[in-house]
Amino acid sequence: MGRAGPFAMLSKRPLIAGNWKMHKTVAEARAFVHDLRAAALPRDVDVVVAPPFTALAAVHEALHGSHIGLAAQTMHEGTNGPFTGEISPVMLYELGVRFVIIGHSERRLYCGETDASVNRKVRSALAHGLTPIVAVGETREEHAAGRARARITQQVRDAFTDVVAPDVARCVVAYEPIWAIGTGLSDTPENADAALGEIRGAIEGLQHARLLYGGSMKGDNAAALMAQPNIDGGLIGGASLTASAFLAVLHAASLTAEAR
Ligand code: PEP
Repeated sequence: MGRAGPFAMLSKRPLIAGNWKMHKTVAEARAFVHDLRAAALPRDVDVVVAPPFTALAAVHEALHGSHIGLAAQTMHEGTNGPFTGEISPVMLYELGVRFVIIGHSERRLYCGETDASVNRKVRSALAHGLTPIVAVGETREEHAAGRARARITQQVRDAFTDVVAPDVARCVVAYEPIWAIGTGLSDTPENADAALGEIRGAIEGLQHARLLYGGSMKGDNAAALMAQPNIDGGLIGGASLTASAFLAVLHAASLTAEAR
């Protein structure tokens, strides 16, 4: 069983994670953190940023003394070895990384990530003190064919194969319908909630885990999404790239946290 990461096993405080994808040089990443820290961050929301590998060390330094968590966007499941271009969880942990996004649809689509590799990475992340943020979601075709729920339930079951319930409980799952990512077409709060409700019931442990919605979530729709009972936060792409857009999401999450 791995070490517990920050925020793990706490109550279901909202968690907002910004996935910068392949954006921001080191200088841009430092400037973002400077702008974010200059603002009054809501105290009742856990905040995580996921810079590209090249900016992790600089962002870790810039975050010093803050409560903002640091995530990687992916990892290799091994600790070291002949895997050119890969980064291990041990290397990430040493850099101050405590969360890792696993199985993002762009990794599945462009980098050969499979349900089986997602499972290997989830188990390795947990064993090395990292909290996995496991991304699942159906394609537009699966959605249109009415196969969304079956697909995401399968992805979740595969991702957590051979993971014991207490470890499942300290993971984060993000439901990200692929057709909603980067399109401006967010899922409706009711559909997203229903999908996350199925995910929550799919395996033991997820009842206690934080479940996020992702897919064109931003300041003007975050409150409605976060008001749903099964949505504990968001995985944010485009709206995490400027401090002002990210802050709008954080404040919307805070408002709904107060109302819960
Ligand atoms: C994502 O890629 O995880 C994502 C949610 O992107 P966006 O917010 O831009 O749709």
